Amino acid sequence: MMLRKTLTTIAVSTLASRPISAVMLPVRKHSIPIFMLHRPSDPKLGVSGHSQQFISEALNFVKKSGYTAISLRKLVNSAVNGDPLPKMSICFTMDDGFSDQAEKILPIFEEYQVPITFFLATDMLDRQYWSWDFQLDYVISRTSLKQLNAIIAGKPFKSTLGNPTDRRNLIRKVRSHLKTKGIDVSRREVLHIANVLCVDIPKTAPASFTPMSWDQARELESDFVEFGPHSCEHSILTQLDGDQAKREIEHSWQRLKDELTNPTPIFCYPTGREGMDFTERDKILVKNSELTAAVSADPGYANLNSSDLDLYALKRFSFPMNDLTQFKQYCSWIERAKEIITGRI
Ligand SMILES: [Zn+2]
Repeated sequence: MMLRKTLTTIAVSTLASRPISAVMLPVRKHSIPIFMLHRPSDPKLGVSGHSQQFISEALNFVKKSGYTAISLRKLVNSAVNGDPLPKMSICFTMDDGFSDQAEKILPIFEEYQVPITFFLATDMLDRQYWSWDFQLDYVISRTSLKQLNAIIAGKPFKSTLGNPTDRRNLIRKVRSHLKTKGIDVSRREVLHIANVLCVDIPKTAPASFTPMSWDQARELESDFVEFGPHSCEHSILTQLDGDQAKREIEHSWQRLKDELTNPTPIFCYPTGREGMDFTERDKILVKNSELTAAVSADPGYANLNSSDLDLYALKRFSFPMNDLTQFKQYCSWIERAKEIITGRI
């Protein structure tokens, strides 16, 4: 296993090197990886996430290896107007709007002068709101109990909570189950889980879920840091009726326009899986608003020369966790070649 990993690392490093990437450029010329970041890691607050050192390493690789990081706005403009983009373009985004993301991640992008679009769930900034999916994360990460055995929205869940991986897996499973229910059921069931796991849910966001402020956003807005809408309440749109979904999309965009100088008119669907978290109805709502595009959380490239490029569901790759080999693979032509070979296009 170890040997295989070493060989993969060597192979990817060689294949993603500057001369080979230049020769293989046609393979990924119009296919641009959009990366999606979330929280920085903070063991003290029990938040797992990206290490700052790894982000620096990745951006250093970008700068040294001939890639050009472009803003998401520029990518979408190119898709709409046909404006040419630099060879080997790549793009970065980050979701949610927590203060640690603003404090620990954005300065690294500023330092490397790499553009990033930060999507904000605006009610977090407006009223310290924290949605049921973040509350679920908090409760399961924080409990001092070592196991959960409960019926959650009609389904039995039994899991040990001995280590962070158990907890992460349980969070993912419960969230996937609750996503299929109405929002009131999800909110109620998270209270029920908190009760079972003996955790109090504070009314406004606690330290580990503190949102950034609008002042902070205004200060950070720059040529490299742009902000876009990510709904008001971090709502999973399929849990809402059409009017509620419309409001989540349009009002979050309005709040960005009210507070910032030059927000990006591109929507980011909370939790972001097409068909599960948003549907055709929501894509039409985005299309009929002032917004010019939207990003999902489904993995894949933005294939700009493809006739079936969906500007209202642009795919993104999760920014790899401490895995430079995987990051290089997404940046280079290698992952794109894999997509073509395996028919994932
Ligand atoms: Zn989000």
